[in-house]
Amino acid sequence: MRLSQFHLATVKEVPADAEIASHRLMLRAGMIRRLASGLYTWSPLGLRVLRKVETIVREEMDRAGAIEMLMPTIQPRELWEESGRWAKFGPQLLKIKDRKEQEFCYAPTAEEVVTDYARNELKSYKQLPVNFYQIQTKFRDEIRPRFGVMRAREFLMKDAYSFHLTQESLAETYAAMYQAYVRIFTRLGLTFRAVQADTGAIGGNASHEFQVLADSGEDAIAFSDGSDYAANLEKAEALAPTIARPAPAAALQRIDTPTQKTIADVSGFLKVSPQQCVKTLLVRGRDGLVALCLRGDHEINEVKAGKLAELPDQSVLASEEEILAATGTRPGFIGPVGLPDSIPVIVDRDAAVLADFVCGGQADGSHYTGANWDRDARITRIADLRNVVEGDLSPDGNGVLHIARGIEVGHVFQLGQKYAEALKASVIDETGKAQLMTMGCYGIGVSRIVAAAIEQRHDDAGILWPEAMAPWRVAVCVINPKNLPEVSAAAEALYQSLGQHGIEAVLDDRGLRPGGMFADMELIGIPHRVVVSDRGLTAGTLEYRARGESESRALSEDELFAL
Ligand code: ATP
Ligand code: MG
Ligand code: MG
Ligand code: MG
Repeated sequence: MRLSQFHLATVKEVPADAEIASHRLMLRAGMIRRLASGLYTWSPLGLRVLRKVETIVREEMDRAGAIEMLMPTIQPRELWEESGRWAKFGPQLLKIKDRKEQEFCYAPTAEEVVTDYARNELKSYKQLPVNFYQIQTKFRDEIRPRFGVMRAREFLMKDAYSFHLTQESLAETYAAMYQAYVRIFTRLGLTFRAVQADTGAIGGNASHEFQVLADSGEDAIAFSDGSDYAANLEKAEALAPTIARPAPAAALQRIDTPTQKTIADVSGFLKVSPQQCVKTLLVRGRDGLVALCLRGDHEINEVKAGKLAELPDQSVLASEEEILAATGTRPGFIGPVGLPDSIPVIVDRDAAVLADFVCGGQADGSHYTGANWDRDARITRIADLRNVVEGDLSPDGNGVLHIARGIEVGHVFQLGQKYAEALKASVIDETGKAQLMTMGCYGIGVSRIVAAAIEQRHDDAGILWPEAMAPWRVAVCVINPKNLPEVSAAAEALYQSLGQHGIEAVLDDRGLRPGGMFADMELIGIPHRVVVSDRGLTAGTLEYRARGESESRALSEDELFAL
């Protein structure tokens, strides 16, 4: 590509609401332009990157045996009534009417449509297993579209759906998709983790998310440093009551006397008045403030409270050892205990008040029931609950958990028969009997990946593309092409020669001053830059610099191709 014939539209200023690096850089590089909230136009430059991602996703899906197809983005209400999701999906579903007042939705996903296709097309077990996929626009009316294409309303997703006669067959395809995803994100040059995810309301047997690690990520994941264990935080928390907390490495220290306000806040939040509380312990732990409120109306706690009576006041500060001595439990994690309403624990971490109530010790998440606090207050806080913290023992007993932030770029899910049952999608089995099909679904956020890659790889000057995603691999920058025809000709020859070697290059023949030209190439993240100048021509060398390096070096053309 010759830049003089391209539309490169880098800008200096970006809107103040562009909060994260990828959003700012995609706007500055001119990759995207906002049309309306959560709606973006992909510029010619942006599209080159998007297509790179799409191509790798397609190649690996094909390699894994999936078959590409294309389904409409507009889907009829009737189908969504059949699955029960017309009412259940909620406000993310954009509903529209045609001129005949027929109702439709804009596809947020395509389980209904693909299951409808499958029930009409697949008749015999001999046609199974089969895995259909598409790379198609989706729309979700996100409550808070933000971060540009990271959480857009319209976005590009690869969605695959597999159909099986048996659970074993589903498990095989699921494993193949998992491996395909590992290959995709590895080829894309991303640092990522596959984590266990909750199968939640949909049910199903297994689910994993693929999370690109980045501090700006909206998700949190927990992973062990001593085993393969990795889960998103919701999933990790569902297991939390079974996690034994190891003794913190750093000893807890006495802290200043808490203000009344702190105690009142704590008690208020718990819906336990200070009077009801026999003792409140506030402890500074590694992760912030830990408060233990002990009620006096419970046998076990009376014993504990009895020991605590030796401590000075209603509200006391104590070291972890003191608490251990007084209550027989370490702060930060108490349970399982006899009565669900006896010992609430508050953990204040990262300046936010996060709460957890350890009640019954069940591992299925039902420990969040309980009687001693305001139900609604609790439910509104449930998204904030953090019962798993850095340093916990891994649930598999191997290693210690670390918490990191992630961007969900892929999600694989064993659906089971939910949709096949609702839409009556069956095939004839070996014995001639009709059998419901078993399904899996596998999504990748193609457009989100572009932003996620930038979050992971950028510096003050701009984007640092992994080679596989770069709009071009090499930039050939020509100094003063208009006045120096021989320099221009040499650059043109180099550009041609790169192309003949199968190396995607961009020729910056716009005639910009070197500073502006280099700044643009750095901003848009081209991995390799070669400068063709009068001086270099005389010396018989090219000035080469890799993106991210601070020094240029002189290379011959042969040396350049050997890189
Ligand atoms: P999130 O938790 O980020 O809202 P999700 O779990 O709702 O995502 P899925 O239904 O699993 O998303 O869809 C598959 C993939 O589509 C996700 O893993 C993600 O990469 C991508 N995706 C989902 N919502 C958006 C969005 N609003 N903008 C861009 N990509 C998205
Ligand atoms: Mg979502
Ligand atoms: Mg999600
Ligand atoms: Mg998901």
